Amino acid sequence: AIPLVIAISTARAARNGILVTDRLALERMRRVDTVLFDKTGTLTTGTPAVVAVAGDPDTFTLAAAVEADSEHPLARAVVAAADPATTPRATGFRSLTGRGVRAGVDGADVAVGGPALLRELGLTSPAAIADEAERWSADGSTVLHVVRDGVVVGALALADGVRPESRDAVAALRARGVRSVMVTGDARPVAEAVAREVGVDEVFAEVLPQDKDDAVARLQERGATVAMVGDGVNDAPALARADVGIAIGAGTDVAISSAGVVLASDDPRAVLSVIALSRAGYRKMR
Ligand code: ADP
Ligand code: MG
Repeated sequence: AIPLVIAISTARAARNGILVTDRLALERMRRVDTVLFDKTGTLTTGTPAVVAVAGDPDTFTLAAAVEADSEHPLARAVVAAADPATTPRATGFRSLTGRGVRAGVDGADVAVGGPALLRELGLTSPAAIADEAERWSADGSTVLHVVRDGVVVGALALADGVRPESRDAVAALRARGVRSVMVTGDARPVAEAVAREVGVDEVFAEVLPQDKDDAVARLQERGATVAMVGDGVNDAPALARADVGIAIGAGTDVAISSAGVVLASDDPRAVLSVIALSRAGYRKMR
């Protein structure tokens, strides 16, 4: 039989939109001293929009053609801004996880992606494009470069707004003595701009999706007890590695199966409710 105290906390949890799939995880939540937040979709809204384009006149059209086959939120933002009537059809689409996308467009080899893509291809942008890109990322925009046949022909800036609740969540955690850390695949200047806006204590940037759980491990090696909060896009191994994995905004199926706690809300302040719940359960148990 389920002990009465667990039944009580679970009912209370359900009322607050907190689904506990692993009650030991909820118990460990009392000892959590570090919360690791995924950036995109967790601290930010996760719905970016194209805010600027630089370079050759066909930069945007090429990007839209290649991104048409990608499910990534950045890709959806590019496609949403494009006119389907003037977007050429791409062939041989390939996704380069954590770096970008690549396909054939009108006989050219076109790749679209962030700094990791340029590093991998061994390319640098012409000064005019690089200068724009530097300004955009210092402002917190994500920059995608467009490469045609091995030459950087342009760049796009995409802005993904910080959730208004993120700053409050981090401040409230700090008031309870809990550190906040952010992990992202995005470029370091973008990550740092968002980190400043939200007020997190530490940032892991340019982390490939498959390495996000290493960020959890590094914090744990320093002796931290870590709750990882993510929306599940690329986060499942990190959610599983954390002392407490918290999937936010109902998450994806894979996130839910890797998380001990699932939040119905996508408000990062809900993490405070999980802490309150774990501490309340503990008091009743003694
Ligand atoms: P996050 O950790 O912020 O959720 P991801 O790991 O999903 O980010 O992506 C990391 C980086 O990989 C992005 O910032 C971008 O530079 C690049 N990238 C991923 N998918 C795409 C895509 N469809 N088009 C262009 N770039 C992409
Ligand atoms: Mg993500």
